[in-house]
Amino acid sequence: MTAHLNPETAPRTATETDIAVVGAGLAGLIAATDAARAGNGVTLFDTRRPGGRAASTDIRGFRFNQGAHALYDTGPARAILASLGVPLTGGPPAVDRGRLLKQGELHRPPAGPASLLRTTVLSIRGKAAVGRVLGRIGSFDGDRNRDQTVNEWLDAQRMPDDAADLVRMLVRISTYTDAPDLLSAGAGIAQAAMGLVGVTYLDGGWQRLVDALTDAATQAGVIIRDHTAVDSIGADGHRWTVETGATTVTADAVILAGLSPIEAARLVGSTLGELGWDGLGPAAHASCLDLGVRRPAPIPALFSVDEPLYLSTHTPPADLAPEGMGVVQLLRYLAPGEAPDADATRAQLEAHAARAGVQPDDIVEQRYLHRMTVAHAIPLASTGGLAGRPAVTVTSHPGVFVAGDWVGEVGLLADATAASGRAAAVAAVRWAASVTP
Ligand SMILES: Cc1cc2nc3c(=O)[nH]c(=O)nc-3n(C[C@H](O)[C@H](O)[C@H](O)COP(=O)(O)OP(=O)(O)OC[C@H]3O[C@@H](n4cnc5c(N)ncnc54)[C@H](O)[C@@H]3O)c2cc1C
Repeated sequence: MTAHLNPETAPRTATETDIAVVGAGLAGLIAATDAARAGNGVTLFDTRRPGGRAASTDIRGFRFNQGAHALYDTGPARAILASLGVPLTGGPPAVDRGRLLKQGELHRPPAGPASLLRTTVLSIRGKAAVGRVLGRIGSFDGDRNRDQTVNEWLDAQRMPDDAADLVRMLVRISTYTDAPDLLSAGAGIAQAAMGLVGVTYLDGGWQRLVDALTDAATQAGVIIRDHTAVDSIGADGHRWTVETGATTVTADAVILAGLSPIEAARLVGSTLGELGWDGLGPAAHASCLDLGVRRPAPIPALFSVDEPLYLSTHTPPADLAPEGMGVVQLLRYLAPGEAPDADATRAQLEAHAARAGVQPDDIVEQRYLHRMTVAHAIPLASTGGLAGRPAVTVTSHPGVFVAGDWVGEVGLLADATAASGRAAAVAAVRWAASVTP
């Protein structure tokens, strides 16, 4: 039984909770569940239904995530979700059967030592350089390389251009970020290393994470107020008031979970500068084309080396489509400040699908999302990479905490979201205990 309240029929009330969590994406669901399991009364708000960017849409049996989503096998999100009892079945991408696209030509990818020798995408010097880098990438020290951009790090490796282009592509695919002159190598190369270890396309889509987390939250006693926007957060002595259109909820601690930095600042009536967040990097955006297809794509994965284009077949291996059918996902990574025309970008992605052998007749369902925010702030080399991101504690607002893909020193994407969601819950629980012992 979920403890959802209908905002339209619920009377305007003043209520109390130990911890209020604003935002019911992955960050908020994890933070709320952890805080409730630690014995706190928790109220979780979201403008819409729970899930945020992890929610999937079912279109006639095709489960489309909001653009291509893969869970990193060795990242903290996977471990945190498993600790909450979330099922994580699925399968890996068929990269070894895929192709790389460079200057209009298709090449086999260097997916292992034998294919590195055979691939035509690299010169002999390029193969030696990529072999050297990939051989060492598992022991890459992100902290030591946090102040260098990805491009500076590549220059320091003295690689031939074709090898550097290939590593840049790996970083782009694994970080969803097309900003090698800004992105900290500490974050970007470490993420590429994690991607090479393995990722999983999830059965049922990321909605399965959302559903399992919503159940875990409800069972732990979290009150979920979906379709309830929080308008502002205000101080009330040592406590905080959370204002919605219908209610004022007083809480010992508040976690702003998964919100953009600007939205989080707006809710507490501050500016980015006042909160010390004005050095954050630009957001990472992508255009996404999700295809439900009659038959698997002849080329199951097609990554472009010299253009920011991605294609990967998510079904198979993941269960996201009606029996015998497939799901193919395409992305165009957008560089900071880039705002291409929607029709032209969609056409570019359709042409990329055609190169992988997906013909218009193969497509049963499709959805195009022009400008998705993959991450609210790219970790910049100029501000120390992951170590330069804001902490979960908002020092100017004692008792207010933040979580999301731009918070904390751990990971990128959902890994950052999950790790900061858990860290914010620990900090909020400690704070709430000090306010109301
Ligand atoms: C195209 C794309 C591809 C991606 N691929 C990957 C991938 O392969 N691997 C990976 O690890 N991650 C990936 N991600 C990132 C992943 O989806 C996110 O990191 C994660 O879902 C973010 O969760 P969150 O809780 O931090 O934020 P969100 O999901 O954005 O949740 C924030 C919530 O806050 C709510 N909210 C906002 N303002 C208010 C308010 N005033 N009051 C109440 N509620 C409010 C919103 O409605 C929303 O539900 C991808 C993202 C995109 C867009």
